[in-house]
Amino acid sequence: MPHAIRVHNYGGPEEMRWESVEVPAPGPGEVTLRHKAVGLNYIDVYHRTGLYPQPSLPFTLGTEGAGEVTAVGEGVNGLSVGDRVAYAGPIGSYSEERSIPADRVVKLPAEIDFQTAAAMMLQGMTVRYLLRKTYEVGPETVMLFHAAAGGVGLIACQWASALGATIIGTVGSAEKGALARAHGCTHVINYREEDFVERVREITGGALCDVVYDSVGKDTYPASLDCLKPRGLWVSFGNASGKVPPVDIGMLAAKGSLFLTRPSLAAYIATRAELEETATDLFNMVTTGKVKININQTYPLSEAAQAHRDLEARKTTGSTIFLVD
Ligand code: NDP
Repeated sequence: MPHAIRVHNYGGPEEMRWESVEVPAPGPGEVTLRHKAVGLNYIDVYHRTGLYPQPSLPFTLGTEGAGEVTAVGEGVNGLSVGDRVAYAGPIGSYSEERSIPADRVVKLPAEIDFQTAAAMMLQGMTVRYLLRKTYEVGPETVMLFHAAAGGVGLIACQWASALGATIIGTVGSAEKGALARAHGCTHVINYREEDFVERVREITGGALCDVVYDSVGKDTYPASLDCLKPRGLWVSFGNASGKVPPVDIGMLAAKGSLFLTRPSLAAYIATRAELEETATDLFNMVTTGKVKININQTYPLSEAAQAHRDLEARKTTGSTIFLVD
């Protein structure tokens, strides 16, 4: 029987159990996949702890994977057994095999291998919508991007650099700073040692930023807002340090008629057309070499709990994947 990492109770990594699971034949509109590689994302931590609760327990963790189609359900067009596919979205990817709605997977170009796909679908499509849809980044853009050496961060540095933007990135160590800089980050701030608001003021000569991308959450709130120009955009898209407290909207007026959005990938790839457009743009960035996917940590899927410990301890950089035999 195939195995999966299941959560029976919300909590720490010790709640992640490697169990055998039954994979039913694909239902109408579904395909069954044999995973070759699975992605680790910070959202997996929110699912494990219950910060983002699931409809029921137990459940299989994980929202990103790449593999081969092994069975095709009724009514599925355009996918066949043996196709190489990947996805970001439906929970349940920490598994050797799974069934999934066929309209949520995309076929992989020949140049993109399974490991790269598993490392980039969720983080890369996120960067695509953040830089191309939530705010249209271009050569005039001055942005602050927190956690610039992380999975989303390193892709964002490269993509924003390709768009010609000025990128100020925050990082938790000197090594992470060097990594962010090597991937296109224009200015680096170690926010464990420096006051990032002060540094943003210095770097921009007091002009501040057009947009702040904040996935750190609790620890960078509300200081992130002080890095924005009047009418600037605060994009709060994650909570690695904890949930952002309720925001007093009057503060947006007081700090210069700021805009706030709290986006999630699901809303930007909700239709099949949006998913295909987003994935195709990402594939183009990767196959043309404008964005390199850094797989800096790999673990066997059965050892996913250790990967969660390392991610939460801020030990990882770039993307992390699980290898599936
Ligand atoms: P990362 O690889 O970026 O890991 C998180 C990083 O956050 C750490 O490496 C660390 O970098 C930084 N960090 C700051 N404070 C803390 C803390 N207290 N605990 C842990 N980490 C901290 O993860 P991902 O690339 O997977 O995701 C990045 C963020 O983007 C997450 O918040 C995630 O939820 C969000 N996200 C949101 C999406 C959306 O659509 N809304 C989609 C995808 C991701 P450092 O040491 O340099 O500070």
